[in-house]
Amino acid sequence: MINESEIRRWWDIFKRDNPLTEVRILGRGKTFSGYYTNPEQLIADILAYDGYGIYATINAIKDSCYGRTQHDCIIQKPKATTSDNDIEFRTTLLIDLDPERSSDTNASDAEKALAWETAKNIIKYLADQGFEKPVIADSANGYHLLYKVYLDNIPENTELVKNFLQVLDMLFSSDAVKIDTSVFNASRISKLIGTKSAKGTDTPERPQRQSFFCYVPESYKEVDIAYIKKVASYLPKPEQPSRYNNYSTEKFDIRSFISQQGIGNAKETRFSGGLKLILDECPFGGHKAPDSALFVMDSGAIAFRCLHNSCQHFHWREFRLHYDPQAYDRREQEEYARKRRYYSGAPQKTVAPIVEDKRGKVWLSMKDIVWQDPSELVSIASGISASVQSASAASRRCVPHLQKIRSACTSSGSGNGFVRRCIRSVCEKRVRGAFWSGMPITAAVMSSMCRKTIIFADT
Ligand SMILES: [Zn+2]
Repeated sequence: MINESEIRRWWDIFKRDNPLTEVRILGRGKTFSGYYTNPEQLIADILAYDGYGIYATINAIKDSCYGRTQHDCIIQKPKATTSDNDIEFRTTLLIDLDPERSSDTNASDAEKALAWETAKNIIKYLADQGFEKPVIADSANGYHLLYKVYLDNIPENTELVKNFLQVLDMLFSSDAVKIDTSVFNASRISKLIGTKSAKGTDTPERPQRQSFFCYVPESYKEVDIAYIKKVASYLPKPEQPSRYNNYSTEKFDIRSFISQQGIGNAKETRFSGGLKLILDECPFGGHKAPDSALFVMDSGAIAFRCLHNSCQHFHWREFRLHYDPQAYDRREQEEYARKRRYYSGAPQKTVAPIVEDKRGKVWLSMKDIVWQDPSELVSIASGISASVQSASAASRRCVPHLQKIRSACTSSGSGNGFVRRCIRSVCEKRVRGAFWSGMPITAAVMSSMCRKTIIFADT
């Protein structure tokens, strides 16, 4: 059974700009393939394959693939199907969530409900990280979150998507629901939404379901690569012996650290990359389980993450210093103490403007600028200047927390417009932020900034 109108919708969302698509049909030990540029012909041809799993490529295929034998028709045992080299560029970032269950069975309603909870948590988390809204699809047995991207098909981006999915797996996979980390390759196929699952036996408890769209954003926008990189960067790397850890090469014993420090450890689970120790409580914001955890990667790397925005600046190093202030050298200790003061979550008093120039512009002096962690900066293509170099210099001047600078910034022609958009974004997020620059700011903007404790200073 195929839902034709849902397939037309799928085509409209994903294939309008790059129509060439390979449809691949799997089941009963057979493989079929066909390349199409026309949705109506595709629909007409797949109708005969009821009872099979029907999939399609998710990224833009090179035109030359249309020259293959199976163009505008479906053949069995194709000589060639789409490989990673056949992908022109990536258009879709797929997050595939599936409930854990016995192989070759369909999910029960209760299992699917757990996958839906995980999907909602991921959507919220990625929105906090600056992501645009995804298309959400019920994939019959789980959920697909499909983020729009434009990524060149190069090895760096394959690595990027792989690391990104591993971070989501680390943060969100549980014993009940897994994020599939294997769907990172460019030539990935995924369920053609509107077709039915053909897995397992169709039973009342575990039915073969139809896939469909749960949510399609009104305007489906590309996620800026900077945000994907930011999330991917949370993948822990082993600490190298260096000055700050006194050139230690010892393997850190996390379990004895936890028991020595009396750290409450609610639950242990495994994810594909290692072990996850869910903490009773996050030491920085008091967030309860399961929101914060320690991760011990199979590589030996250790990480701390709390899902709350207010804790995103605290990593393993800060976690360790919180319990063991002598763990690293003095510079690390001091930096941590400063960070702690800044991100303490205690209500910060609104900083009163202290310098006024002739035109009534109000600035803070450099000494009033609070410390920032440059590694947390998200680079923002500002469009202030036509030259990429100076635009990135401008974005470097914007202090972190600018989580949600929309791609609209890039189309802004004026520096002032850019600044105003940044401010609006910061205000929407209700976080503290700061700029320093000599950019002209109007009085109205200034007063709204002061209310939200956004501060300015001249350079
Ligand atoms: Zn926290």
